[in-house]
Amino acid sequence: MDANRTALDTAADLPLEDLSTRLSGDVVTPTDLAYDDARRVWNGMVNAYPTAIAYCHSVGDVVASVSFARDHGLDVSVRSGGHSVSGASVVSGSLVVDCSQMEWVRIDPDERTARVGPGATWGTVDRAAQSFGLATPGGVYTETGVAGLTLGGGTGYLSPKHGFAADNLRSIDVVTADGERVTADADGREDLLWAARGGGTVGVVTAFEFELHPLDHDVAYFESWLPLDEATPSLRTYRDFQRTAPDEACVFPYFGSVPATAAFPADRHGDDALVLAGAYTGVPENAREVCDPFVAHEAAFASTFDAMSYLDLQSMMDDDFPDGRRYYWKSVPLATLDDGTLEALSEAAERAASTLSTIVLWPMHGAVERIDTETSPVVGRDAVAVANVEAAWDDPLATTENVEWVRETCRRLRGDGAVSGTLPNFAGGTEPDAEDVYAENAARLRAVRERYDPTGIFTHERA
Ligand SMILES: Cc1cc2nc3c(=O)[nH]c(=O)nc-3n(C[C@H](O)[C@H](O)[C@H](O)COP(=O)(O)OP(=O)(O)OC[C@H]3O[C@@H](n4cnc5c(N)ncnc54)[C@H](O)[C@@H]3O)c2cc1C
Repeated sequence: MDANRTALDTAADLPLEDLSTRLSGDVVTPTDLAYDDARRVWNGMVNAYPTAIAYCHSVGDVVASVSFARDHGLDVSVRSGGHSVSGASVVSGSLVVDCSQMEWVRIDPDERTARVGPGATWGTVDRAAQSFGLATPGGVYTETGVAGLTLGGGTGYLSPKHGFAADNLRSIDVVTADGERVTADADGREDLLWAARGGGTVGVVTAFEFELHPLDHDVAYFESWLPLDEATPSLRTYRDFQRTAPDEACVFPYFGSVPATAAFPADRHGDDALVLAGAYTGVPENAREVCDPFVAHEAAFASTFDAMSYLDLQSMMDDDFPDGRRYYWKSVPLATLDDGTLEALSEAAERAASTLSTIVLWPMHGAVERIDTETSPVVGRDAVAVANVEAAWDDPLATTENVEWVRETCRRLRGDGAVSGTLPNFAGGTEPDAEDVYAENAARLRAVRERYDPTGIFTHERA
């Protein structure tokens, strides 16, 4: 039976109107006109048919929804920002506990903390924190949810200086599988806090508390576009730079196609290219000197270097990932950037099945690797860089070749010397060949899950 029919039949057999009367928010079912919009997520590849979607406005709504699911034998999927690349927040047959309306942020400038509701996006948090000259590492796209990004680790421009988003998480409020409200912090339920620092969904998080850091000056951003045949020598420069890179520098080379815009020479439009891109989050006076090997690269056919506010930096990529396009992403933590790996990266970029696709090398130096590995389930911190292989395309008939390009590229890069595990946020989904994301931490994470979710209502999450 297809997933749509199953959702209709399951919903028809359940007293969903009882749940409706207990929530402040709506409960959307497969017979509602709003159902198709409500089940949609950012990635156009995802086409799941949940049994119902419960829009929660309060912790009480979350408790009622989780209790309803448990009492009626439904799995729970949790949606906050809706930007899970694999679509893990809207699973066929589940009750979706939607926290997107629980969007609030409270900054305590004296304690330098932010308390954040699960529906908040990074754009909201950054704006609130910056009004006090403060910030904490988040993603590089304003619309991603604080919830999913943090529960999957969370890398951004401030990560070399302050670690992953999850490394800055001080406490969480959670509704567990049995409907209990609990707090996890340094004084209690440390195992639950540990799991939330990148280990995915163990319960529904209804509040996050982050440490904030001073950031009250402009930052810098640069890009230098180079022909693909310059990629290997240029990435050697990057490799040398990374050995002693300051914590304020977040240089992330990526491969892509030259856009057909006036910013680029017309004879380069559509060519494959390597882009040496990066942010410098220290004081602007030092930025140019640090970024110079990349900005002044002699082979560059286009380059920019700009000082800007941290908020402008954080929203620079907002037009690059439109809703509804098809995406398939995976990542490989690289133990080395030896010449074999660099050549494999260039070859993969040349083979990409879509001009919208990219491979990004995300740096892992500084605070990310210094932080005590015992404090979080995320592994692979000793990688030199993480290669995020990101396919994007519009034609539904091109799905197989794009997915295969990502898988084949990751297979080759793993063969060329990968660190075990991978960044949870870019793990590529819940398909059977999904990587062993948590490697040596998997058993410990499983034990926490079994403690707080013994019947496994959240077990469709990253295992
Ligand atoms: C355009 C784009 C840019 C990105 N950039 C970055 C980046 O710079 N750095 C980075 O690290 N990642 C990045 N990511 C990956 C992103 O962090 C993950 O996709 C993340 O899961 C999105 O979180 P969300 O809340 O928006 O998603 P959702 O789809 O709402 O949720 C994602 C996951 O978290 C779970 N979850 C959500 N809310 C809760 C909750 N309240 N309690 C318990 N579990 C919950 C869901 O069940 C699901 O498994 C990016 C993704 C996109 C699409």
